[in-house]
Amino acid sequence: MSFENLGLIEPLLKAVHEAGYSTPTPIQAQAIPAVLGGGDLLAGAQTGTGKTAGFTLPLLHKLMTSQTGQAPGGKRHVRALILTPTRELAAQVEESVRVYSKYLPIRSAVMFGGVGMNPQIEALRRGLDVLVATPGRLLDHHQQGTLDLSHVEYFVLDEADRMLDMGFIHDIRRVLSILPPKKQSLLFSATFSDEIKALAERLLNSPKVIEVARRNATAETIAQKVHPVDRDRKRELLTHLIKTNDWHQVLVFTRMKHGANRLVEYLLKQDVTAMAIHGNKSQSARTRALAEFKSGELQVLVATDIAARGIDIDQLPHVVNFELPNVPEDYVHRIGRTGRAGAEGEAISLVCVDEEGFLADIEKLIKRQIPRESVPGFEADPHAKAEPIVLGRRVLHGAPGSRSGGQSAGRPGSGGGNRGPHGGQHGGGGSRHANSNTNKPAQGQQQDLRAPRRAEAANSGGPVSSPPPRRVRG
Ligand code: AMP
Repeated sequence: MSFENLGLIEPLLKAVHEAGYSTPTPIQAQAIPAVLGGGDLLAGAQTGTGKTAGFTLPLLHKLMTSQTGQAPGGKRHVRALILTPTRELAAQVEESVRVYSKYLPIRSAVMFGGVGMNPQIEALRRGLDVLVATPGRLLDHHQQGTLDLSHVEYFVLDEADRMLDMGFIHDIRRVLSILPPKKQSLLFSATFSDEIKALAERLLNSPKVIEVARRNATAETIAQKVHPVDRDRKRELLTHLIKTNDWHQVLVFTRMKHGANRLVEYLLKQDVTAMAIHGNKSQSARTRALAEFKSGELQVLVATDIAARGIDIDQLPHVVNFELPNVPEDYVHRIGRTGRAGAEGEAISLVCVDEEGFLADIEKLIKRQIPRESVPGFEADPHAKAEPIVLGRRVLHGAPGSRSGGQSAGRPGSGGGNRGPHGGQHGGGGSRHANSNTNKPAQGQQQDLRAPRRAEAANSGGPVSSPPPRRVRG
């Protein structure tokens, strides 16, 4: 199978070859003909499968070849709308649109919150063919009357499961209500929970369903280890490991960006060179951090899951989970960064009592037990009590035997109608384990979410001093 076989127009083939792709990935081989053929699509695919090109290439093809009511030389209208849960992903997707439309007269733009609206309004005024946006900012533009969505012919909901996890269900519904009823809609999701199925039913018309294999297996060449440790000694243990083993090029993961910043501050005080890479960093700061890390100047790069997705670093000798991800699939993504060609990579997780439930979910997903190995002098207190993990306004119970994560402290709708309460993804009652393969627990990557103060507390690894959260369900 080649891209030529898929019937894409020449300028797209040229851009794809320049991007260095020779063969379509499985999701592309299925999604491209499905989208070209017309009709709606429900696609199960995770990041890293090539899903972005899977929807972008056929959309660009259709934008170039299908009829439009637009007068030649007249104002461009948004004909394709791609909605993503986070700013990082929106920026990445729009970058892909640019790469693939390099040889086409297509204009695209990305719009997300946290930055000024005026340049976005100006871009809309000049006219666009493809808009990539996060839901909150899209609705802000709509409310202000700066965005006309009445010409949308193609609509993509990317990482729909993550959108629900992040509480965007009301925003999605609002967006759907302002889009023209006649359009081709594509829904991409890593999981097919009941909520996703309900959303698909609402959004899609007799969709074609495709699903590519999940990437749950972890490479045999990666040596995985868990170091049980008390939550307030993780930073010390990490420094100890780096220094005693003389580690270089260590990629360290935290759940939230504030945790990443605090860890970097600590490491610098211990004379370990470190930088954080996450959504709040400017592009130049990220580029510099990455260059220094790759050259070996920088010993440690601390990243959040979403930030790490957008960066081209893999084949590292060491990946450390300073905090376990609450989404088991993210563990597989994280440790997939290690394992040099031929050589063994090492993935180490520093796990405190609060995270034992997360660990159990991960082991269930990868179908193996990760060996525990206490580091002398850092043994975990066997009597330590688990505490809830606070992520933004959400409180997760990561302790063993606890009920499904994703308890929400309730999120009132914020100004501009950006974010409603949690979408009710996690049907309470069921155990975390029963949920882990189909219903992801609440996401930790809340790059776009507000209320960082408590998230920071969670990330410091220190106890959370806030009062016990109101349990919404479970
Ligand atoms: P995605 O799942 O869309 O985030 O894509 C993951 C990565 O795979 C991106 O870095 C793409 O540039 C890359 N990619 C996408 N399609 C192909 C392909 N057919 N061959 C090689 N790499 C690809």
